[in-house]
Amino acid sequence: MAKVIKGRTGDWEMVIGLEVHAQVISNSKLFSGASTNFGSEPNHNVSLVDAAMPGMLPVLNEECVKQAVRTGLGIKAAINLYSVFDRKNYFYADLPQGYQISQLYHPIVGEGTVILDLEGGETREVGVERIHLEQDAGKSIHDQDPTRSFIDLNRTGVALMEIVSKPDLRSPEEAGAYVRKLRSIMRYLGTCDGNMDEGSMRADVNVSVRRPGEEFGTRTETKNVNSIRFIMQTIEIEAKRQVEILENGGTIDQETRQLDVANNTTHPLRSKEEAHDYRYFPCPDLLPLTLEQSFVDELAKDLPELPDPKKERFISELGLSAYDAGVLVAERETANFFEAVAKGRDAKLAANWVMGDFFGALNKSGKDLADSPVSAEGLGGLIDLISDGTISGRIAKEVFEAMWESGKSAGDIVEEKGLKQISDTGAIEAIIDEIIANNPSQVEQVRGGNEKLIGWFVGQTMKASGGKANPGVVNQILKAKLG
Ligand code: ADP
Ligand code: MG
Repeated sequence: MAKVIKGRTGDWEMVIGLEVHAQVISNSKLFSGASTNFGSEPNHNVSLVDAAMPGMLPVLNEECVKQAVRTGLGIKAAINLYSVFDRKNYFYADLPQGYQISQLYHPIVGEGTVILDLEGGETREVGVERIHLEQDAGKSIHDQDPTRSFIDLNRTGVALMEIVSKPDLRSPEEAGAYVRKLRSIMRYLGTCDGNMDEGSMRADVNVSVRRPGEEFGTRTETKNVNSIRFIMQTIEIEAKRQVEILENGGTIDQETRQLDVANNTTHPLRSKEEAHDYRYFPCPDLLPLTLEQSFVDELAKDLPELPDPKKERFISELGLSAYDAGVLVAERETANFFEAVAKGRDAKLAANWVMGDFFGALNKSGKDLADSPVSAEGLGGLIDLISDGTISGRIAKEVFEAMWESGKSAGDIVEEKGLKQISDTGAIEAIIDEIIANNPSQVEQVRGGNEKLIGWFVGQTMKASGGKANPGVVNQILKAKLG
């Protein structure tokens, strides 16, 4: 849904396009054998190629090519069998070569599609224009010494995929959903770890505004935004700023800007007039990259089941709602966990337990799925006890908490604490008879037509049985005795 901004002079619509930089998962860099390990000592992952020593030549890393192709296939994009590496020339201290090797005219991946999962299970398709491979730059560090800057070249030459969306996004929420889905797909594929706080994924955010239905307006580009929240914040800020200018009769400069989180604003970095002239030309050190169709087909054959088809399957085969399916497939590990719990069991009950008490306990304890004290088999065992009537859903919550604390199985806890559900009609009848005998006025009211009071009797019976009475049986007996 397009987000409308109510201006003084009428409605405005946001138009957004994202350029996402995703770091490729590979052991070594795009054109050198240096390690890509995150967190190494500064300048320890630097080969002579990365340091741009004279005479060094880049050698293309096949693994990075495969990862880009797999990512393209993951968004159903056209794979270009012919692509070319270009030099993008500019000088900066963290780029010792004096140019970045990138792909401008012939990217490795062409047009593709990302499906957004929006609120209420709604979906929307967003176009991807292209994905190209390029080198990352190093890092300049300005805050460790009052007078000097430091350079860390560990990241120099690491492979990035630049994923360029079409200007199809219409709200901060859609932009957030787009980045989440891209990240999810790349994590399933194992092509980018998507850890935005480590800089593995960051976005340039292009924003313009227009009157609904009219031509696109002039856009600004806010560089290097490194979280989904900040991407959404950037869009809000920029759209409002642009509307304000336009409504006061001004025009938007096509410029590069920077987010200032602390002051909830953006600042200009450089305008189009002073934009770089990158003097792109094909890199003479590298041949054009030509792929065989069979190379692409092999990679296509080995792709895992991705979030969208998995979601479809959870809906059609397991009967989950679109919302539940969307939540459960977002991370591959969660989807696997859920499937292990649901296997051979009531899938909706399994989904409720995974998304409810289980996610709740994970969140509360700040643990990852991998460190959960309750395994998929453990949770499955608990669900079995609910399904076969051994315990009620309410007692199950208590059992789950004990499982989380102790790591014991549901069966052992039910046994130890004597939590087995009472389904024996005789035992329940005895409890109910006593409650009826002790509460004559309530009995009179129910018999006089106050049906709501039945609920009160159910509550009293459950309480008297320590929560163990089978609620179905309780209701049945109460209706028979009070009806
Ligand atoms: P350039 O080649 O100047 O970088 P592109 O056409 O490749 O420009 O677009 C870069 C990004 O800007 C893309 O993600 C695209 O979707 C987005 N974009 C293009 N035009 C607009 C616009 N009018 N408003 C918002 N985003 C736009
Ligand atoms: Mg661009």
